[in-house]
Amino acid sequence: MTTSLIDLIGNTPLVRLQHIGRGLSVPIFVKCEHLNPGGSVKDRLAKAIILDAEESGRLKPGMTLVEATAGNTGIGLALLAAARGYNLVCVMPEKMSVDKRLALTSMGARVVVTPNAPLSSVDNFKNVAKRLAEENGWYLTDQFCNPVNVRTHEVTTGQEILDQTRSNVGVFTAGAGIGGTISGVARRLKEQLADVKIVLADPLGSSLAGLINTGVLGMDGSYAIEGIGASEPPANLHCEQIDWAETVSDEESFAMVKRLIREEGLLVGGSSGTNVAVALRIASSGKVKGPVVTILPDAWDRYRAKPWMQNL
Ligand code: PMP
Repeated sequence: MTTSLIDLIGNTPLVRLQHIGRGLSVPIFVKCEHLNPGGSVKDRLAKAIILDAEESGRLKPGMTLVEATAGNTGIGLALLAAARGYNLVCVMPEKMSVDKRLALTSMGARVVVTPNAPLSSVDNFKNVAKRLAEENGWYLTDQFCNPVNVRTHEVTTGQEILDQTRSNVGVFTAGAGIGGTISGVARRLKEQLADVKIVLADPLGSSLAGLINTGVLGMDGSYAIEGIGASEPPANLHCEQIDWAETVSDEESFAMVKRLIREEGLLVGGSSGTNVAVALRIASSGKVKGPVVTILPDAWDRYRAKPWMQNL
């Protein structure tokens, strides 16, 4: 018996892909973060940030939380806010799907939509969230800089992967939005496994792959995949942990989502396609000895109104 919703977060299954990559010398394993109660990897972060803030006394009953979010952190925070009695305001750039926006308002959160503005602009979603926190005395959960983000992935996601693979991982690959997932998992795996390689899966148009591979930020372009990639490295992305980066076009990511849904029965969103496209590339290269492990960050339901999902 589970006593509360919070206990359902994490400990997600690690599944071996059955069709994608069949016949290759190394298996591909996917960690099903889309099966968390809020449907994404971000439930882990929401839980860790709220519990940490409560324990330190900074968060008091009835307070209002505010966060800049692509949507998934907001949904995780909305679950926690409902379960533990907080109000929630989510600041989202307009690029993010209407489905995520609707989910948040259905869960009782207030959504503030900002233009898709760069960090240098006062209208950027992170700047707006910070300003709202200062002006109203709200609690900024600050997923971008909060060190709890990386730590929770180190002690939960990373440790679970070690346990579930019996410490047999050749390569771990994942995209980075804020960088918490890849940085935390990398830290735990590299601590325990001398030869493991960590590979960033980056959308074509993001600047991060260039930074990892050449030391210079790549060109800042646009792409449709949500939740990963950035024009500059977020504070929670620990680049020194990453061995190299692979770039994936929107088309390749969407084609891989279609395969995950139709061939594997894994009902996932766009960034899962990016991650598995890179996992397949690496497993096919013949250069890795151990299994390739990646993350399925979120579920397909939050992209149903997007043209790419309707055209799968
Ligand atoms: N995929 C999706 C859909 C996301 O929303 C996020 C979080 N922004 C990620 C992947 C990446 O997670 P992280 O922020 O831990 O890098």
